[in-house]
Amino acid sequence: MLNSRTISDLAQAFAASPNGFLIVDQGQPSFAVLPYETYKILKKGKTAQKKIKKILVTGGAGYIGSHTVKLLIDQDYEVVVFDNLSTSRREAVGGVKLVVGDLSDRDVLDKLFQEEKFDAVMHFAASIKVEESVANPGKYYRENVVSGLNLLESMMAHGVKSFVFSSSAAVYGEPEKNPINEVASCQPTNPYGETKLCFENILKWYGKGYGLNSISLRYFNAAGAMPDAELGYGRSLEHTHLIPRVLDAALGKTAEIEVFGNDYATPDGTCIRDYIHVLDLAEAHLLALKKLSEPGAHIYNVGTGRGSSVLEIIDQAMEITGRMIPMKISGRRAGDPARLVADSKKIQKELGWQPAYDLQDMIESSWEWQKLSGPGVV
Ligand code: UDP
Repeated sequence: MLNSRTISDLAQAFAASPNGFLIVDQGQPSFAVLPYETYKILKKGKTAQKKIKKILVTGGAGYIGSHTVKLLIDQDYEVVVFDNLSTSRREAVGGVKLVVGDLSDRDVLDKLFQEEKFDAVMHFAASIKVEESVANPGKYYRENVVSGLNLLESMMAHGVKSFVFSSSAAVYGEPEKNPINEVASCQPTNPYGETKLCFENILKWYGKGYGLNSISLRYFNAAGAMPDAELGYGRSLEHTHLIPRVLDAALGKTAEIEVFGNDYATPDGTCIRDYIHVLDLAEAHLLALKKLSEPGAHIYNVGTGRGSSVLEIIDQAMEITGRMIPMKISGRRAGDPARLVADSKKIQKELGWQPAYDLQDMIESSWEWQKLSGPGVV
């Protein structure tokens, strides 16, 4: 029981040294008094997870997944890729171990977790086409939520509690203001964004209920490829994203680039997006691994903070390729917000992430890749 004299001594000591103090007895440290917050940090350090070495990468043969796998291997992580190869290329994983399977198959997952002792999972595998998600929401709930849940259940059953999730700026919908930070309200305008948000919420509750540590990275517009055309976009027969489509038009693979609307409230009337180099995104995943020792579900935007309009992209692509790119202005695409630009201060501050590449790098490296590979080439 503390008497009033002791309490007043402690209060004085805290006033002089609010971060805690040491009680010394005859010159020897005998007792430390710490604020509870400091105690929690020390305790966490002591119980910090073992170092992450072996990682399961779902969707590791896809576009962003394969670039991340390359960086992981370069940094000596042990990697196993799990992919159904529905939209991706076997060649994209190089010599890395590839398990071809589907996340809907719980038995395959359980067998894999049984055989390999993973320290963490990076979950890229998903369906990502906004328009398709509007036309066929069932597919998106099944593949992005139900299959993802299967993966989490198998992880929990095998004691794997570190997870990096590919989320998307699509969770925000039409933002109230730009740049957008992580506390902005999330009102997705299509099932794709809705399923990503739903999964983020699942991760939050798995953190509370089962002790899963997770990081959700909300990607803005991924673009670009590995230098020297070593890796690039996936095997889709038809590109859906702006930059590869613009370059297909430059290559004459398509007759023209359609500009979806020039009547938006932006300086040139076309939509503004925050394009981010795929290698900068991949780097964010590597930094995220280090944060996984902290409990809970963490969310970060990953973008450059710089917006470019559709017309600016086409102009810059003409400059880089030295080719005329025919274009046609057509109607707005359903569900397209006018402007989406990231505020990425949180990831810069907490994970020390910085984008290393700019739009020119993205268009140049995409151009190198598409000249060699083009759509439809495996
Ligand atoms: N866009 C376009 N023509 C195309 C493809 C895209 O004008 O052939 C526009 C689209 O409306 C959006 C921007 O380019 O404003 C980026 O679209 P993308 O599909 O690359 O990414 P999203 O922002 O939809 O994730």
